[in-house]
Amino acid sequence: MKAIVIDKNDGGQQVALRDFDEAGLMEGDVTVRISHSCLNYKDGLALTGKAPVVRRFPMIPGIDFAGVVETSAHSGFKPGDAVLLNGWGTGETHLGGYAERSRVKGEWLIPLPPGLTPAQAMAVGTAGYTAMLSLMAVERHGLTPDAGPAVVTGAAGGVGSVAVALLHRTGWRVIASTGRMAEAEYLMGLGANEVIDRASLAGTPKPLAKERWAAAIDSVGSATLANVLSMTRSGGAVAACGLAGGMDLPGSVAPFILRGVALLGIESVMAPRARRTEAWNRLAQELDMAKLDAMTRTIGLADVRQAAEDILAGRIRGRVVVEIGG
Ligand code: NDP
Repeated sequence: MKAIVIDKNDGGQQVALRDFDEAGLMEGDVTVRISHSCLNYKDGLALTGKAPVVRRFPMIPGIDFAGVVETSAHSGFKPGDAVLLNGWGTGETHLGGYAERSRVKGEWLIPLPPGLTPAQAMAVGTAGYTAMLSLMAVERHGLTPDAGPAVVTGAAGGVGSVAVALLHRTGWRVIASTGRMAEAEYLMGLGANEVIDRASLAGTPKPLAKERWAAAIDSVGSATLANVLSMTRSGGAVAACGLAGGMDLPGSVAPFILRGVALLGIESVMAPRARRTEAWNRLAQELDMAKLDAMTRTIGLADVRQAAEDILAGRIRGRVVVEIGG
């Protein structure tokens, strides 16, 4: 089968689009014929080797995929079932989605939710599913749109674009923070009420700043997250799901102990099955598919390496689907 394969030797990491012997697929009770994968920030890290995402070699990267079950020894799946998979170490420790087939544990698979095509599922991808996990965490904290606006950082990126559309759809007033003010019209089209320059969240944070929002979905981390926390209203909550701006958190505990602000950690890879299923079903029902279309472009396997460089450089707008085969 055709696959993108990462090999490693003394000279470092090499990435090639080449034939891969299916006998080399890993253990699992379900084989899936993959039709679509997508590009996430973590795929960019894996393909470029800029962070140690890949834990075994050779590796087929691609942390998520959608397709059709070809063979199954798992009681929950039969040949012909449409499925998706994201996380569980796929593309990191287990051969991933940039290939025509994958063999996986059936318990990792989610039936494709009614209302989503495989292409739409991968337009959502791990990024969009993480945006939904973030919204669900804010809701579990008890916040509703009545509490005040929600800010989304990294808004023109993958997590950010889906977060803007979802928050808008669920009734929030949305403030989108971006470094690409030229994308203001795009963000308003997804449902942002206001677009702010990310430079306004980039300086050294004050312990407490003027209260601007009740909720946040942050895919940037570092000083951006610290600034967002310092500007969150009393009783508000910030879902922290990303590190596009850095892994550190140069802030103060003041928002926590003086405003009761909550910092909600979002982890998508090992999220329990019930929460995943809820997130995917909600995405199928609540995400505006016209908006999903507007934020998505499609590439082939041959274009993935360039796209990986682009996503790490912050040049990708919205989501990128990788079309694998029929
Ligand atoms: P994208 O590259 O599509 O989006 C990230 C966005 O962040 C960029 O588009 C840009 O938005 C902004 N950004 C990039 N660099 C900087 C910077 N130096 N300073 C400030 N803002 C910056 O990536 P994804 O949306 O796919 O992923 C976003 C983050 O979420 C990543 O860190 C990823 O690893 C993480 N993630 C975490 C998951 C989890 O389980 N917790 C799951 C999925 C993703 P703009 O141009 O609008 O400013």
